[in-house]
Amino acid sequence: MTKGNISVQAENIFPIIKKFLYSDHEIFLRELVSNAVDATTKVKTLAARGEVKGDLGDTRIEVLINEENKTLHIIDKGIGMSQHEVEKYLNQVAFSSAEEFLQNYKDDATIIGHFGLGFYSAFMVADKVEVITKSFREDEAAVKWMCEGNPEYYIEPHDKTDRGTEVILYINEENKDYLTKWRIEELLNKYCKFLPIEIKFGTKTETSFEGEGDDKQEIKTEIDNIVNNPRPAWKMKPADLTDEDYKSFYNELYPFAQPPLFWIHLNIDYPFNLTGILYFPKLNNNLEVQKNKIQLYSNQVFVTDDVKEIVPEFLTLLHGVIDSPDIPLNVSRSYLQADHNVKKINTYITKKVAEKLQSLFEQDRKAFEDKWKEISVFVKYGMISDEKFNEKATDFAFLKNIDGEHYTIKEYKDKIKDTQTDKHNKIICLYTNDVKGHHSYIKSAKEYGYDILEFDTIIDNHFMQHIEYKGMEMTFVRVDSDTPDNLVQKDEKKESVLSEKEQDKVKTIFSEALKNLNGGQIELKPLSPNDHPVMITKPEFMRRMKEMQALQGMDMNMFPDAHNVVINTNHSLVADKLLKMKSEEKKADFANYLHNLALLNQNMLKGEELSAFIEKSLEFIK
Ligand code: ADP
Repeated sequence: MTKGNISVQAENIFPIIKKFLYSDHEIFLRELVSNAVDATTKVKTLAARGEVKGDLGDTRIEVLINEENKTLHIIDKGIGMSQHEVEKYLNQVAFSSAEEFLQNYKDDATIIGHFGLGFYSAFMVADKVEVITKSFREDEAAVKWMCEGNPEYYIEPHDKTDRGTEVILYINEENKDYLTKWRIEELLNKYCKFLPIEIKFGTKTETSFEGEGDDKQEIKTEIDNIVNNPRPAWKMKPADLTDEDYKSFYNELYPFAQPPLFWIHLNIDYPFNLTGILYFPKLNNNLEVQKNKIQLYSNQVFVTDDVKEIVPEFLTLLHGVIDSPDIPLNVSRSYLQADHNVKKINTYITKKVAEKLQSLFEQDRKAFEDKWKEISVFVKYGMISDEKFNEKATDFAFLKNIDGEHYTIKEYKDKIKDTQTDKHNKIICLYTNDVKGHHSYIKSAKEYGYDILEFDTIIDNHFMQHIEYKGMEMTFVRVDSDTPDNLVQKDEKKESVLSEKEQDKVKTIFSEALKNLNGGQIELKPLSPNDHPVMITKPEFMRRMKEMQALQGMDMNMFPDAHNVVINTNHSLVADKLLKMKSEEKKADFANYLHNLALLNQNMLKGEELSAFIEKSLEFIK
């Protein structure tokens, strides 16, 4: 037996490894299985070059638990190591890289959650580690290496006859979780699901049937339980995959999700290496739940599903996989954001996504329109947050009107510019976020020949703001933000049928009658006799600001809940009936009733006031 010392500076390193990043102890398994995969890939490469004699045989990696001995085994049939290599790789290379790693990062709490600590991460969960290994070179004898979590190691000959390496972890009491089947299964599923070499963990029963009718027999066979899919879709050529393949891979990633809308297969090898598939999920209005589901891999090894700093914010709405050995993994997040490769990857992905959307739009506009409802949030989010994406998406982003017609921004401008250009030469786009609730407002606007857009996603306020600021000469105004004549302001003067004096009188009646205005302002207007006698309008700017603040969780009271009460002095109920009423009490009552009708029309009449209004109406029709 050979006894040696790992390194002179080693005294303090094991205690650090043992408690290092407590919550991430579990990565030891990923590290050891990745090493086994590397060793197996190497032997396969050598065999392909004719440097290994004979048939390689089964190259499956096996993970197994020995409950009795409290050991966890990772067994591969890879290239193995000679005694010399064990000393070189495990005692020097692996150790010094572990040491360097800890030196660099032990004070940095912001390290990306998952990284490679390598072979020595085994000591986070094991008090003792053994490595039994035999090199693929036939003249090398097998050896066993042992280390008990201190700077001393032992090497002795071993009688292992087959090629490969077995790492045995004597799991300590504190980590005995790692001796349970479910926990190891969970980890293999998380980190090793798409590793390129088959990984066996126990067996499973497969049921098949033989014979027909009454002779039909159930046959149960025990087969290896392979935990991974060594050829995941993103590593294959797009030409070799059908739509079904893409969909079933999506299912493999997100077992309970609805099928994706479409996808982009990424494949680039210069100036950086990146493969992956990004899926467009069906988005609903709860974006937070669906965000940040992209999984990041490095050569098929799972790294993280927190890609916030690696892809642009709006792309985190997509799902799928990105695999790149060029993304530096063991660095702090702030460093990552500034990294050159990460920036290039961002630009590339953004471009690809925009191109995909553009081509869907060009190839089949109808199909793109059908999908618009589900992708609009994503596209709008992208336009708001990413200048490059915005440039491209301006050509294919749709505005949809309440009649279900889709227009690009340019098409829409052309459509409405004759009817909806105001006196300041601005094109006014009218919209609603509630077709039913705004029914009478929509009806009036339509009577003016206006077109009305439908905006009903949570980021539409921001999106409108974005288009307005982008100098596209378009202004968005909700149908209830003003009286219909004034939605698109023209220079027409309207005559009131009432004299100044009569108008003052009307104003006084309403001002005195309407006590509970909640900040509303009374305004007199000579509208069409066909418009309602009293209307509630909500000025666009204040309302939009307030809604945007609410979305950002800010104090909603920073902007008052402003609305106006507009009295149509040309309506006969105001101009004629109201003014002719005998008593002041009757006038006040009537003014109140008209106001309540207007509130009802805006769905603003609630509670006690609504009950009182209903009572009063019942009185009338008795
Ligand atoms: P890394 O894998 O990043 O090189 P590790 O600390 O995990 O660092 O391992 C150090 C070295 O030990 C590896 O580069 C490899 O040469 C050797 N090694 C580790 N595990 C195995 C194995 N299962 N089979 C053969 N060699 C291995």
